[in-house]
Amino acid sequence: MKDKYERLRKWMVDTQIIERDIKDERVIEAMRKIPRHFFVPENIMDDAYDDRALPIGHGQTISQPYIVAFMTESLELKGDEKVLEIGTGSGYQAAILSELTKEVHTIERIEALAKEAEKRFEKLGIKNIKVYIRDGTEGLPQEAPFDRIIITAATPDIPEPLIKQLKEGGILVAPVGDRYSQYLIKITKKGSQFERCTLIPVVFVPLIGKYGWKEK
Ligand code: SAM
Repeated sequence: MKDKYERLRKWMVDTQIIERDIKDERVIEAMRKIPRHFFVPENIMDDAYDDRALPIGHGQTISQPYIVAFMTESLELKGDEKVLEIGTGSGYQAAILSELTKEVHTIERIEALAKEAEKRFEKLGIKNIKVYIRDGTEGLPQEAPFDRIIITAATPDIPEPLIKQLKEGGILVAPVGDRYSQYLIKITKKGSQFERCTLIPVVFVPLIGKYGWKEK
């Protein structure tokens, strides 16, 4: 018999991911596999597969499953990319990415969240994610350039260092806008030019740092 969470996960993928037109089979498979309930506080585990973002402590959230799938699909991962994520949070998005590519670097500014995420990766036997505690708006110069960059917190503009750390032909996806509402933006680096595409409206918690919002 399938366990309760496996059934809920299948329901989530069928009704929230496939029904809403996520097409990349690899993304769908990763969402089927990674146990999302593992990435939320114990008292709300039963809500983990609901169609919404959930609180993870420290005023932060784990994003809605559909948004995780949509952003992941937008990155067009083939399997051998070096990916940078800004905003580790629970670690769920990084875990999904780890299924789809060879190397994930993820930055979180809140130490307690970063440490919890690291523990989850260890328990799940995920070995291709490296967690960093620092201001992600400055990127990770020592590991640059990256094939893909994903920002999972709302930013007024794409931080300049991240644009510089994106590889030629690389893709960056981020929620850009004001503090309370944004659009997902997809940028593809083509020589000295950038192709910029506006995707869907979203609401993310703020990216706080040197090239993001100032702490209130
Ligand atoms: N990707 C996460 C997940 O799968 O659970 C959800 C991310 S949550 C919506 C946004 C995260 O970005 C928060 O954990 C927040 O602390 C973090 N954050 C905000 N500003 C940051 C910065 N400058 N550098 C790194 N992390 C930052």
